[in-house]
Amino acid sequence: MYEIDETIYQRFHEKKNMIYRRLWDKSLPTYGKMFEVNIENHINSHKEGYSRIDFALVAAGWTVYEKFPYAFTWERENSMDLGYGVNWMKNKYPIQDNKNFTEQVKKAAKVYGASLVGISDINEKWIYKDGFVRPSSKSEAESKKKVRGGDTSGSILETPINLPKGINKAIVMAIEMDQSAISTAPAQPAAAAAAIAYSKMAFVISCLGEFIRNLGYRAIQCGNDTALSIPLAIDAGLGAVGRLGLLITPEFGPRVRICKVFTDLPLVSDEPNLRFIKKVANVCRNCFKCADACETNAITKDKEPKFKGLNISNNSGVRKYYIDGEKCFEFWIENSSDCGNCIAVCPFSKIKKYVSPTEFWHK
Ligand code: SF4
Ligand code: SF4
Repeated sequence: MYEIDETIYQRFHEKKNMIYRRLWDKSLPTYGKMFEVNIENHINSHKEGYSRIDFALVAAGWTVYEKFPYAFTWERENSMDLGYGVNWMKNKYPIQDNKNFTEQVKKAAKVYGASLVGISDINEKWIYKDGFVRPSSKSEAESKKKVRGGDTSGSILETPINLPKGINKAIVMAIEMDQSAISTAPAQPAAAAAAIAYSKMAFVISCLGEFIRNLGYRAIQCGNDTALSIPLAIDAGLGAVGRLGLLITPEFGPRVRICKVFTDLPLVSDEPNLRFIKKVANVCRNCFKCADACETNAITKDKEPKFKGLNISNNSGVRKYYIDGEKCFEFWIENSSDCGNCIAVCPFSKIKKYVSPTEFWHK
């Protein structure tokens, strides 16, 4: 499924992710920069897909992700009676048939809005060694105010990540991103599709986390934090990693965002989709569409995957195509948003009709 060089592989330090590195790594040209640096220039340029309306769509797309205090909570602080009572939630729900119950949990995830859902055992390798841990019941925006403002002092980005004992299953979910919006990449409607998917993630994991707690079990709600989402998703049978460095799913290709809920529910794990993993490996070996579409050459054109990454934002030791996150992020800053060109051109994304940013708004 994947080859690991155990002499190299180490659990990832979340502060090496470009979103954090830009806050502390002074060697980067993107040090201290974020999307706002270019926005007014873009708006004044009158370029299609970079108008004030486009940027308004993107920024508002993040609303639930950024502002909802319980999105990424690890536990329920107190039982709030919403009119349904709370006493019945306190004992563990007796589970007779784990397989059937797992299907019910998956159904709940889909009803809450997950496009795809799979279950995996938790491989500790994929859990961050350390990272930023949000205080409970605080929104992303509020909890990261200081960090984003430049306070990376002390251990703020280096809290050891240890899942509580007994938490041994991951419910991994993919959220589809809007096809027509993604087709406009790297223009802003594509960034809006990503932002909205993040807010949907926050919604889905919040509801699923509470569903699990209502059954008397524990739930840890995560977006990109706490653990590497792609290998967890592969373990949970959702797809494979492609040349573009993202999860590719059979249903939507890389046109998804991933979230996960860790739990102590006795769920039945899925198997990795080995047939699809093989298919993606074969297609990516000879397809360079994402690499050709990348404006900053962040995607390799090497024929074969490698064990060694390009810089500290790669977690070396797994055989795959490593993307250059430093270069990718340089384009994001220039673009005033994430980009998505590689997602839009990937044949696995199954985009039926590509539209211009103007057509996006009017069709
Ligand atoms: S998101 Fe854009 S800049 Fe980054 S790797 Fe993909 S195509 Fe390149
Ligand atoms: S565009 Fe081609 S090479 Fe890139 S991830 Fe998709 S299938 Fe693989």
